[in-house]
Amino acid sequence: MPTNKEIAFAAVMNDKAGGRLSTYPIACGVNRKLVNGGITYRDWAHDPKLYAQAFIEGQKKFSYDFAIGLMDLSVMAGDLGAGVRMDEQNTPFVDKPIVNSVEDYEKLKVPDIKKGRSSVILEGTRIFSQALNDQVVTAGFIEGPLLVLTQAAGAERVFMDMFTNPSAVHTALKTMTAFDTEMVKGFGKTGCVGLVWDYLWANYSCLGDKEYEEFEGKYCRPLNKLTGTEGMAFAIHSCADLPHLDTQIFDFKPAIYSMAYYPLIPDSPSASEAIAKGYADNCLLAGQIDPQLFIRGSVEKITQVTKDLCQEVKTALCKKGLGPRYCIASGCEVPPDVHTKMENIAAVVETTKKFGKIDW
Ligand SMILES: [Zn+2]
Repeated sequence: MPTNKEIAFAAVMNDKAGGRLSTYPIACGVNRKLVNGGITYRDWAHDPKLYAQAFIEGQKKFSYDFAIGLMDLSVMAGDLGAGVRMDEQNTPFVDKPIVNSVEDYEKLKVPDIKKGRSSVILEGTRIFSQALNDQVVTAGFIEGPLLVLTQAAGAERVFMDMFTNPSAVHTALKTMTAFDTEMVKGFGKTGCVGLVWDYLWANYSCLGDKEYEEFEGKYCRPLNKLTGTEGMAFAIHSCADLPHLDTQIFDFKPAIYSMAYYPLIPDSPSASEAIAKGYADNCLLAGQIDPQLFIRGSVEKITQVTKDLCQEVKTALCKKGLGPRYCIASGCEVPPDVHTKMENIAAVVETTKKFGKIDW
């Protein structure tokens, strides 16, 4: 049974989109260029008011259908104690993992979520949700347990230790799950409508079904459920090349599933394939514009790509007898780079609003 929030969420989604495909280039950090004439990534990522203001200004300028509070994937790792390289203008990343021996997995502790960038995200999400809830579907963004661990400990090490020291990895995953539990409860108090989970490792390029279940699936299920009981619609973002769609859509049952597409990788699912296989039957799929086009593509190019994607998606949805159950989005975050072309973001939104309409 969907929660009341999920029903409200679905209604808002259809109302706002007014019978057309919805749209949300996952433009988050890049919106900081609209705050006070442009602020640095560093300032944006450390001040909840500036963090929120970027989403508010982005909404004013681009009229998205969603506002999703993604910062970057070093937030939780940094608060666990990993060293984060934070340049003025680029996406920060972990440069000093916190796990340097098998024993270190057991030493990980859930940090105080009222401190660090976890608190910036929670407070920032509260501010922009209050400001935007009557205009768009707002959501927080959170990393799944295995993603937090690979970010904090280093992916290569974790993937090796899964086979050589699985019990140490499981000890750490329990701690990550406890950290996520605190964060979900924190997001539940912000007033955001949904919560988007990043379950990056549900990817057949990295893990099979059995390994995924052992090292993340079983930790996810209670967190997915908690998302609903804390009053938020449950959503997933995955930019995996070969995502575990059966597990993540048919089994986890998110309200929204945001995905990427890698045309050069055989079996990477395109939008029309995912719709044809039934993944949009009970879920709003979102994707799959190449994020690099926002830096490298011309307005003409990205407009054409958006138009083609609208056509592809509308045809696939019609064949299945489905309504506008697709959000024209980027496959992953629009690069928060100083060279990202803001006019390309506008082009995706405007093109979807123009060509995403259909008589259903
Ligand atoms: Zn992504």
